[in-house]
Amino acid sequence: MAVTIGVPRETFPGERRVALVPRSCEALGKLGASVIVEQSAGAEAGFPDEQYSSRGARLASRSEVFQADIIAQVRSLGANPEAGRADISLLHPGQTIIGFGEPLTALDQDSELAKAGVSFFAMELMPRITRAQSMDALSSMATIAGYKAVLLAATALPKIFPMLMTAAGTVTPARVLVLGAGVAGLQAIATARRLGAVVHGYDVRSAVREQIESLGAKFVVLDIDTGPSEDKGGYAKAMGEEFYRRQRELLTNVIREQDVVISTAAVPGKKAPILITTEMAEALAPGSVIVDVAAERGGNCELTRPGETVVHQGITILGPLNLASSAPYHASQMYSSNVTSFLKLMLTKDGSFKINRDDEIVRETLVTFGNEVVHARVNELLGSTPATQAGGGR
Ligand code: NAD
Repeated sequence: MAVTIGVPRETFPGERRVALVPRSCEALGKLGASVIVEQSAGAEAGFPDEQYSSRGARLASRSEVFQADIIAQVRSLGANPEAGRADISLLHPGQTIIGFGEPLTALDQDSELAKAGVSFFAMELMPRITRAQSMDALSSMATIAGYKAVLLAATALPKIFPMLMTAAGTVTPARVLVLGAGVAGLQAIATARRLGAVVHGYDVRSAVREQIESLGAKFVVLDIDTGPSEDKGGYAKAMGEEFYRRQRELLTNVIREQDVVISTAAVPGKKAPILITTEMAEALAPGSVIVDVAAERGGNCELTRPGETVVHQGITILGPLNLASSAPYHASQMYSSNVTSFLKLMLTKDGSFKINRDDEIVRETLVTFGNEVVHARVNELLGSTPATQAGGGR
């Protein structure tokens, strides 16, 4: 029998994305799957129900959607611990869930999904190998976040970004510093450049220098030994406290000259490093803006309050959460394409679904299977942290 894929409406407060857009439903249909979408699941992202029906998806109630073999979500239980509880009773053993789920921190929720007997694939754990590039949802969402962060900064700044030479005089360009030049940071650099700012970029991984420069920005060199700062997955390694202290000291002079600081520094599975202390922020000129894209991981600035805008001595510090959801149409389109590529990996020619744990992509993303937590890193964390204390935190 053809596999069924269910797409529930997202229930996390403020979440506007949808896991599969109509075009992907059609593509999956052609592969023999039958897609069931909860009524108005795509409405907030700009994909009305009619578009789903015209692309061959069936619209249904939430409880019907949850009867599907596979559930495609943006935020599964670990990334939606409160509202997501309501769906636990709708799950059934043998079912597969694909979505973001904060697998390395939401350990209670990992255990809960194992208990429910579902196979849970966490999109955050997608390995950064060439074969999985089309499934890399973190990069897709970071691209949107980096772009949006610059727009927020441009709106909050009492200046404009570009240099203008007008009859009323010359306007000097805004100075923007981007801390952390991963996917979000590079997109922030590109966007700030397009708006005409003078942009500097910094990252603990010196390998990004070329990428920063190719976008027309200047790479900030700090006199500090980073040693091996990159892991084999291309992510930054956690550095010691002494490193971070020295980094802050050296960044102080760079930061004080900026109009805008966009910080995106993150280390997977860890709290974001503090790169901007209160004292450093206070050195900025009044009116300057910090957009802390790392707010979801606690933030790179000491003054950040996740989800809030703080004005401290004339400096505005934004701690936006869920930036990708603020451009829900394209965020959904990209996420949907990532999920569809991932599903294609497991859909067989006869339209059924097979979890092949010998495949690296499957193994690295599979958190729970057959009533057990099967992911090695998650199990390690569960061993060292009693599940009851781990909480659903990020
Ligand atoms: P991320 O969101 O985990 O981190 C953002 C950035 O913060 C990273 O560039 C990291 O080096 C930087 N950072 C961490 N600590 C810092 C500190 N103390 N000071 C300054 N910067 C710090 O990472 P990401 O953006 O998701 O990805 C990082 C990199 O992984 C990418 O730039 C790319 O090179 C690589 N990547 C590879 C693939 C692939 O091969 N398929 C896919 C995506 C990304």
